[in-house]
Amino acid sequence: MARCAMCDKDPQFGKAISHSRSHVSGRSAKMWKQNIRSVRVNVNGNSKKLYLCAACLRNLRKTAEA
Ligand SMILES: [Zn+2]
Repeated sequence: MARCAMCDKDPQFGKAISHSRSHVSGRSAKMWKQNIRSVRVNVNGNSKKLYLCAACLRNLRKTAEA
């Protein structure tokens, strides 16, 4: 499973409740995967390939801009 290199987040587990109006409401196991992106980041002059989640990617971009 892809994992964020910064925050090391795992996929989240829970239950998905179907929103159909039938009385037999279906509940099934659901897994939320992190929004992982592979990015090239320049670290001390050499580019590295990292797997980052969207939240960390945004943080990184913000700090780079400032
Ligand atoms: Zn992350």
